Amino acid sequence: ISGESGTPRRTRLGVMGGTFDPIHHGHLVAASEVAARFDLDEVVFVPTGRPSFKQDTTVTPAEHRYLMTVVATASNPRFTVSRVDIDREGLTYTIDTLRDLRRERPHSDLFFITGADAIAQILSWKDAPELFDLAHFVAVTRPGHTMSLEGLNPESVTAVEVPALAISSTECRERAASGQPVWYLVPDGVVQYISKHRLYRESIDGQF
Ligand code: ATP
Ligand code: MG
Repeated sequence: ISGESGTPRRTRLGVMGGTFDPIHHGHLVAASEVAARFDLDEVVFVPTGRPSFKQDTTVTPAEHRYLMTVVATASNPRFTVSRVDIDREGLTYTIDTLRDLRRERPHSDLFFITGADAIAQILSWKDAPELFDLAHFVAVTRPGHTMSLEGLNPESVTAVEVPALAISSTECRERAASGQPVWYLVPDGVVQYISKHRLYRESIDGQF
């Protein structure tokens, strides 16, 4: 988009990182609320490759998580999905996600969206100080997790209250594994994707 001067207008890009194993309505409502509050032009969902903090657990192959994210976001014209993390070799670190997106979108200001549980860990993330140079951080409320922005610069992080959806991917996996419904916790297309590909089936004892 060019202004009259020919200089591109800066756009506002939300970045919703996650394992999305599977994506659920808690993720979608967080992205939608932050988009409205921050007047974002777009929110890009970025499924992780191998999450550095989930090395001890088995994560569903990236291609399935990517496709479920595409299915879940397809109907929203402002939601997109990026492959930057799943196409990068090795473990996923948010610093690399943000560097790649900055390179791809030099005319966008980035707003990285995290839940209250994730923001509490952020100072332990790789290259933590530089993260805040690359994006503004938006921490959304999440049932069962206390929001603490202690130790974080208030100019770098904003807390946003979103409708409380007590949904986690862990619970969705456990439900699918034990034959309980995931209807209305995840979008309909994701329910159908999970059953079509028999995801989370043989893992009742927590071996995901
Ligand atoms: P898991 O149980 O496998 O950890 P999850 O439900 O926590 O899955 P993630 O993919 O780990 O989902 O989360 C991605 C991001 O979305 C994180 O920043 C997390 O805090 C946030 N998030 C997840 N669920 C919710 C929810 N119900 N409300 C608000 N934020 C959420
Ligand atoms: Mg999580």
